[in-house]
Amino acid sequence: MCQFCHQHGEGKKWYLQAENYAEHLLNDIRRSKYIQHFFKDPQRLRDRIELLDTLNRMPAFVQAVIKPAIIGRMKKMHYGQVLPIEDVEEIFGFVNSVVRLPCICRQASLGTEERYCYGLSMVPADQSKLKGLVEAVGADYLTGPDVKGLETVSKEEALEHFRGLEKEGLIHSVWTFVTPFIGGICNCDHDCMAFKATVMKSLPVMAGSEYVAQVEPELCNGCRRCIRVCQFGAINFSLARGKVMIEPRFCYGCGVCRASCVKEAITLTERCI
Ligand code: SF4
Ligand code: SF4
Repeated sequence: MCQFCHQHGEGKKWYLQAENYAEHLLNDIRRSKYIQHFFKDPQRLRDRIELLDTLNRMPAFVQAVIKPAIIGRMKKMHYGQVLPIEDVEEIFGFVNSVVRLPCICRQASLGTEERYCYGLSMVPADQSKLKGLVEAVGADYLTGPDVKGLETVSKEEALEHFRGLEKEGLIHSVWTFVTPFIGGICNCDHDCMAFKATVMKSLPVMAGSEYVAQVEPELCNGCRRCIRVCQFGAINFSLARGKVMIEPRFCYGCGVCRASCVKEAITLTERCI
């Protein structure tokens, strides 16, 4: 179990606890302001990633002080964890509304509106305070080239989209907005700021899932499809055996490799920490 499961889930998976999605948490004024500030300025996210390059050029002892401080702050404010699709399905089993919204990371990194993110709520969408807070941010965030505003979608539609994105190699991740409140689930790749920070800039602001992938060697035909989709470089090919091997230390338990394997040779098992 991860630190958050102990702190915010009473020893169970913290993101499966309905109280962490509760509307009443949004009555905290600090949290409401944080959410509006978060969605207001995509450029700010890009600037922060560029600052990480500066930080990574600093002496090791400086990084050793500053990085834990940043991670500690992120854990309090906006922290993510990778989820496999079965846990996404479990979350969708108890939330009451789903709203699709533009991904602020893609706005920052690509300058385009890409709708990969989903806001979750325990109340119907038209009563959701989270939806109201994001809508109040204004037209800059919500006006896209083809679609305007936030889209209320059914849970089935959303899950179908999630499954399709997983086939394309995108990783599901759950996010807090002033921890422990969970505002939504994103579908991430190298265009996402958290992915860049965690994987490319050595600043882990997104934790691996509670699972780890394993290969059943008898089933693996060595096609290497899974290697191509793993965004964490956790899969190696053994020339001697003609099969792949997964390095558990690098595996984030996203399940993207599993979705790509036509031989069904990959499973996820609970991570033992
Ligand atoms: S995709 Fe499946 S069959 Fe192909 S190398 Fe990976 S585990 Fe083996
Ligand atoms: S090995 Fe599979 S489950 Fe692990 S990080 Fe790579 S794609 Fe995700």
